[in-house]
Amino acid sequence: MARIERIEMRLVDIPPKVRRTDAIQSFVSQETPIVTVTDSDGAVGTGYSYTIGTGGSSVMRLLADHLAPRLIGREAERVEAIWRELEFATHATTVGPISALALAAIDTALWDLRCKRRDLPLWIAAGGAADRRPLYTTEGGWLHIDTTALVDDALAAREQGFMGSKIKIGRPHVAEDYQRLAAVRSALGPVYEIMTDANQGFALDEAIRRAGRFADLDLAWIEEPLPADDLDGHIRLAAATTTPIAVGESMYSIRHFREYMTKGACSIVQVARIGGITPWLKVAHAAEAFDMPVCPHFLMELHVSLACAVPNGKYVEYIPQLDELTTSRLLIENGMAVAPAAPGIRRRMEFRGFDGEEPRRIQPYGRRPAMKRMGMVIGIKPERIAEYKRTHAAVWPEVLAKISDCNIRNYTIFLREPENLLFGYFEYHGDDWAADAGKMAADPRTQDWWAIHEPMQAPLDTRKEGEWWAFAEEVFHHD
Ligand SMILES: [Mg+2]
Repeated sequence: MARIERIEMRLVDIPPKVRRTDAIQSFVSQETPIVTVTDSDGAVGTGYSYTIGTGGSSVMRLLADHLAPRLIGREAERVEAIWRELEFATHATTVGPISALALAAIDTALWDLRCKRRDLPLWIAAGGAADRRPLYTTEGGWLHIDTTALVDDALAAREQGFMGSKIKIGRPHVAEDYQRLAAVRSALGPVYEIMTDANQGFALDEAIRRAGRFADLDLAWIEEPLPADDLDGHIRLAAATTTPIAVGESMYSIRHFREYMTKGACSIVQVARIGGITPWLKVAHAAEAFDMPVCPHFLMELHVSLACAVPNGKYVEYIPQLDELTTSRLLIENGMAVAPAAPGIRRRMEFRGFDGEEPRRIQPYGRRPAMKRMGMVIGIKPERIAEYKRTHAAVWPEVLAKISDCNIRNYTIFLREPENLLFGYFEYHGDDWAADAGKMAADPRTQDWWAIHEPMQAPLDTRKEGEWWAFAEEVFHHD
């Protein structure tokens, strides 16, 4: 089975094309952690997640320092095992959005890899329930947009075949929210869905008051009316209103969803930032057992495939934020979002920023090729040992810099007497040893250093052609 050989990580900043505001915040920038996994057969998978402006660098550090190194050498198809191991590796420090967003980038990359190896689009590989889902738009419903523009956008959306519009709520007074929603309902008539979203902006009493005031508007749902950790508040609100309650955008574990479902605290789940496709599907299937629809939040390019994969996928949310980063658009036919048919997680969608075409900020977080331990042996002339120790107590800085430059770490030399052997050990972190070794050999200061030390050494007669130090075989290690 193919093993993971290399991980590449990037953080791409995508400024929003339009102003996006809600009850508690403004969308500053889509920080997009991107992970690319390459396996031993050369197959490549790419995954990503997002923030709306903070925490992206923390996600990247978690990926680079703790998660990506654990992937090297793992069987790429063992997605469940990898997910569980990575989650456990960080459970004592980073439960919540940081770890979920980091895990999502990795897990999505592994699913992309899996789909490509099987030559299947994601919507088929993950279930294959339907090839398209209805779209609703959020792009014309931000909180700062005036009522006339809200109505115009909803009318235009219906003209294009959209099934509904999401209108942000959370204006200072309930009457303002009501007036805006009522204007849209009046202009669009009864057969058009109006979704609302409070972005966790209300306390319970205000949420109950507003839900009551909206009762005659026949809303499709009220999304995130309360803080996501207020389970009891959601239970009481759900009992107090006939409008469906949608949650999930700010929930980061399958158990959190379980609590909401079993206690009747919601009636629609919006799985989104839970840690990747693997847990996404579990929540969606659990929701099916409760007859709850799944209406994923944001990331329509990915979520169209997941909403199509499961039988209870209901709507896809239209926010064209990733258009800046991709070479193709979400395929929309008669207001329906069509699942990409190409193998993998996307259709004709390439991250143009990867090869520098686009003038946007891209922070590389390095590659993680397989680290290789190297051991080597050479003799030393006994009469030169004292001198050898003395020079190695103060190795020239240029020589040390070249060692690092050639992707060598933990370079250590041991001396064994009275056999008078030197044992060298180092860890090679590059992916082209011949090139790095050649680069070191071509360095003038390194050549000067070797010219001083080679006369002190006594190479083994059994060394291979071209070797000075004789390299040794690794037979065991334990981290
Ligand atoms: Mg929302």
